[in-house]
Amino acid sequence: AKNHGRNRVQVYSDQLESPTADKLVLENDLYKALERDELRLHFQPQFDCASGQIIGAEALLRWEHDGKLVPPMDFIPFAEETGLIVPMGEWVLRESCRKAQAWHLRTGWPLRIAVNLSAVQLEHTDIANTVARVLTETGLPPTMLELEITETVVVRESLRAADILTQLRSLGVSIAIDDFGVGYSSFGYLRELPVDRFKLDRSFLMAVPQSEGDCRLAAALIAMAHRLNVGIVAEGVENEEQLAFLKDHGCDEAQGYHLGRPMKEDAFEAMLVEHSRL
Ligand code: C2E
Ligand code: CA
Ligand code: CA
Ligand code: CA
Repeated sequence: AKNHGRNRVQVYSDQLESPTADKLVLENDLYKALERDELRLHFQPQFDCASGQIIGAEALLRWEHDGKLVPPMDFIPFAEETGLIVPMGEWVLRESCRKAQAWHLRTGWPLRIAVNLSAVQLEHTDIANTVARVLTETGLPPTMLELEITETVVVRESLRAADILTQLRSLGVSIAIDDFGVGYSSFGYLRELPVDRFKLDRSFLMAVPQSEGDCRLAAALIAMAHRLNVGIVAEGVENEEQLAFLKDHGCDEAQGYHLGRPMKEDAFEAMLVEHSRL
């Protein structure tokens, strides 16, 4: 099946006046985004639920095009179709590691930087080799890097996911299963995969605490992670009630607008410096 993301079509038809022409211009310009230095990273903090401390950040890609920030859902699908995601993804990885290492040295925070990997990077490149090279280049300790891989990618049969994750983990980096609970076709994969953390998809939190059914489901997924000896981070935490629920149910970590929005690197660094451990 052709994977022209529904999001993409929707965004173009909602926001642009002549979808086809504008889309072509955008796609054509994407080829030049890297050399024109138009890619940006935003960083969203991740918190330990029990202590309230910042323990990490997720790097989120943005494209600065004609003075506007284009969100990833508007260009990543095209970047994946064309293979552009390979050099872009490597740029994201290198920049994220470089930043995390600089922040670590400046503030004393042993921050865990989380980087999203695309299916294309796993299927068509030697990703373990790339990660090893970037870690050497940037000097970031491997334990400070986490790679986020979506559940749909991991259960895909064509991919020898377990092998790739094992290679990555042997480098000393950690692996998080992104959008956990959304894309599975069976729970079988859970017993085989070498992973460190699940990222509970925000769809599970949206109706917490109003919906009793959703509360039970979220609580069950947290408990399941723990029974499997895997950590769990909740994403999309938008209010105090959700945070209280997560604390009550022993969720390890939380990320979301209520705790901190994705921010530019200088804003993120300022926040770290403010809480500096040095
Ligand atoms: P994701 O990995 O699930 O990232 C979380 C998304 O949720 C981010 O959207 C983030 O801004 C948003 N978010 C965070 N907290 C909240 C909240 O409390 N409420 C709501 N409603 N949303 C929240 P963003 O930055 O637009 O990224 C969208 C997706 O694009 C990401 O989903 C990820 O799949 C992809 N993406 C982003 N950066 C990269 C990248 O460097 N490489 C790859 N391959 N994909 C990326
Ligand atoms: Ca992610
Ligand atoms: Ca996610
Ligand atoms: Ca998601």
